[in-house]
Amino acid sequence: MRNTNLKLFNNQVIIDRILDSSFNYWSLPLIRMLEWHTFEELCCFIIKSGGYETEHSSIGPDGGIDIKIFKTSNGKQIYCGIAQCKAYCKQKIQEKQAREFLGVLMNEKLSRGFYFTASSFSEKAYNLLKNNGVIPYDGHGILKLINKIPEEKGKLYLTQLTTKDFITPVCINCKIKMTLRQNNKKGTDFWGCTNFPKCSNHYEVKDYIEILINNPD
Ligand SMILES: [Zn+2]
Repeated sequence: MRNTNLKLFNNQVIIDRILDSSFNYWSLPLIRMLEWHTFEELCCFIIKSGGYETEHSSIGPDGGIDIKIFKTSNGKQIYCGIAQCKAYCKQKIQEKQAREFLGVLMNEKLSRGFYFTASSFSEKAYNLLKNNGVIPYDGHGILKLINKIPEEKGKLYLTQLTTKDFITPVCINCKIKMTLRQNNKKGTDFWGCTNFPKCSNHYEVKDYIEILINNPD
């Protein structure tokens, strides 16, 4: 996978090659390559493995509530927490984002939550979350959590996740897979909605080669 010759190819070729690869174990590069919706599904899987129920909210991927968490006590389902998910590969979670999440937590009258990012946290953001009832999990933390899940269950989910297209993002407005387009002025690729011009939503394309090279597993 960590083949620097891939630099010679365009994003579509790189993405096709990654999706054609077989993944036999969970790794940091894999977590960092996930598109936002698949990343949220992975976070749901992790939370469920801890004995909770989840409701994958449609408000995401930014702001609002990504995942609602429930526990069952004496046959009753209790709304007990929320989780924020950021499928970032590099960008650190900053204090402002941590404060926003704590605000949402307060609005929901909850005291517990999880903050998942495939990247990392600034020290201030990390401490702020930790001191206010939120457990912050960065890419390394997520990998540790997955590796604690019984091996067979973890591997089965890995197969399920990697046999689908886990790279092409879903459009938050249209709930459909996007498509790779080129910005002719800049000569760079971006993810555009297949419903364009009806929907002009677009996302940045992650640097998959950089992820593979800089996060050796
Ligand atoms: Zn769209």
